[in-house]
Amino acid sequence: MPGVKYQKGDIVMGRWPGSNLYYEVKVLGFDATSQLYTVIYKDGTELELKEQDIRSSSGFQLRARSRSRSQSPGRRRSRSRSPARTTRRSSSRAAAAAAAAAITESAPSSRKETKLKDMVEVRLVPLAIENNSNNKHEKKEENNTATKANEKSETKRDSEPERNVGRYNLRRRKDEARLEEKKEDANVVPAPTPMVSSTLDFGGKIGAYFWLLFLPSWVLFVVLQVNLKDPSLANFPPPVPPLEAFWDAQALGFVVLWILFQAILYILPVGKLSEGMPLRSGERLKYRTNGFFAIVTSAAVVAAAVNQGVDLTYIHSHFLQLSAATFLISVLLSVYLYVRSLYAAPDQLALGGSSGNVVYDFFKGHELNPRIKNFDLKFFCEMRPGLIGWCLINFALALAEMKQQGLASPSYAMILVNVFQLLYVVDGLWNEEAILTTMDLMHDGFGFMLAFGDLVWVPFTYTLQAYYLVSHPNALSLPAVAAIVLLKLVGFYIFRKSNSEKNTFRRSPSDPKLSHLKTIPTATGKSLLVSGWWGVVRHPNYLGDLIMALAWSLPCGFSHLLPWYYMIYFIILLVHRDSRDMSECRRKYGSAWDEYCRTVRYRIIPRVY
Ligand code: NDP
Repeated sequence: MPGVKYQKGDIVMGRWPGSNLYYEVKVLGFDATSQLYTVIYKDGTELELKEQDIRSSSGFQLRARSRSRSQSPGRRRSRSRSPARTTRRSSSRAAAAAAAAAITESAPSSRKETKLKDMVEVRLVPLAIENNSNNKHEKKEENNTATKANEKSETKRDSEPERNVGRYNLRRRKDEARLEEKKEDANVVPAPTPMVSSTLDFGGKIGAYFWLLFLPSWVLFVVLQVNLKDPSLANFPPPVPPLEAFWDAQALGFVVLWILFQAILYILPVGKLSEGMPLRSGERLKYRTNGFFAIVTSAAVVAAAVNQGVDLTYIHSHFLQLSAATFLISVLLSVYLYVRSLYAAPDQLALGGSSGNVVYDFFKGHELNPRIKNFDLKFFCEMRPGLIGWCLINFALALAEMKQQGLASPSYAMILVNVFQLLYVVDGLWNEEAILTTMDLMHDGFGFMLAFGDLVWVPFTYTLQAYYLVSHPNALSLPAVAAIVLLKLVGFYIFRKSNSEKNTFRRSPSDPKLSHLKTIPTATGKSLLVSGWWGVVRHPNYLGDLIMALAWSLPCGFSHLLPWYYMIYFIILLVHRDSRDMSECRRKYGSAWDEYCRTVRYRIIPRVY
């Protein structure tokens, strides 16, 4: 950028719009027409700033807050504010800042020139209270205002030909905030760079201990329970086999071979190299999205093996040993991931998994995208061994059903479960690029939660319906089959369409196919869809997924609760996931997100939830 004061890659101090506060930012570019610099804050927020809103880092000297206090006690007093006001600000702007250092100029411009260095202070922002709509009061408020907002936005939409709702452009925020600042002495600051996790999910530090023990125990429970002749809750707990029954070196060998085989398929230079979403550093990682190739090749290899006489019912008879071996691998992988995360640069850490507590960070995942050269460990584990393994296990269980019940072909129920879940996985792999815009890939660190989830939980609990059917047959009439198929197709349609809509929008917001959709711009430069599928509920993809989950459990009938476990678990998972995502989006998008929530009132099920 010749002739321009700041160059691409420069680390400078950028003013946060609407305040006198400066944060460290990286210059990403300069637009000669608008004379604006594009900069990125440490939390990934990208903004366009004028040259006068940028200072070189060397012009700043950090000073302790106490000094500034002593200089202007009156000013400090004037900052005192009602709790309500503090909460509002901290939730919408300064969210997630347990100890973020903000650097501010705090003086009128006349003194600014001469005492710039003196007047810079380092401020510790208080722990933000997330504007979580689980809060009853806010929920009520949200619902009340939502009705009005809906009415308003409907009227506005009718009279508004342009695509963007356009109430949240940056200039507006800036001007508004400046006015507010004059009125209110706005020294509570936005904190774009949380250095530690703001709010801890999953019950925090204590919760992490609980989940570390509970998740493996639950897998053990379902694996043992489903083997009972009568797996009803009356027979809880199932008898636990002796310790040596868990260990089988051959089973471990098969699991290692399977993972290596999938790893080889993953690194083959076949298929597209897709770009992930921009990271906080502005970088975009590349991912080999050849999942469909991997599953087709795996199917061919498995078919050839069966043809050669390999007995896949081994998977049924050694389910416990295979799951124990996979558990061992997931633990070793998690330890490796945690240790290597200690050496990762701060901008490579996941904001949500950086609490400073070893157990919590180990569980939640400390490093965002751990890679060995170009081999992305999280992406690989999310999409390959467990997901394709799920289909392999289901297939093996269909063979086991035929063997155990002396059938010439699998039962209708088994076929439905196999086909439905295969469709789910194949669709996921066909649209593999879409995972790059999901929470797991964008926000969650890679630790025990995902490693165990991907490698153990998915293949060994999602196959529970098929496992159940091996020794608990459930005859289905043809009309029942037709009704279940229809339900599955409805769920699949909603799931696929909504996921694709969001994925296309995130990848190419100006795609003509989406030009009819309305959006809300946000201060980060990204917009939010507010019509189409994402205008029906805030998570239409979850709705589709839940309908499909229902279709997976129905073939098992109503004799036992156990095969309904997936449905029950999935409701809990998605409700919790939705609330995590809401907090994350509120942190990122502030008032624009609140506006979206007021416009789209329901989270997952229209008019219900
Ligand atoms: P989503 O795919 O719903 O992604 C959430 C992100 O989408 C948000 O963080 C936000 O990210 C973006 N977003 C939210 N609202 C809007 C909007 N209105 N306009 C544009 N972008 C928006 O979340 P998940 O990762 O949870 O789910 C992905 C899929 O995986 C779902 O279909 C889910 O059902 C499925 N799933 C299945 C599981 C299973 O075990 N079978 C487990 C978990 C998920 P940003 O703005 O930063 O782009």
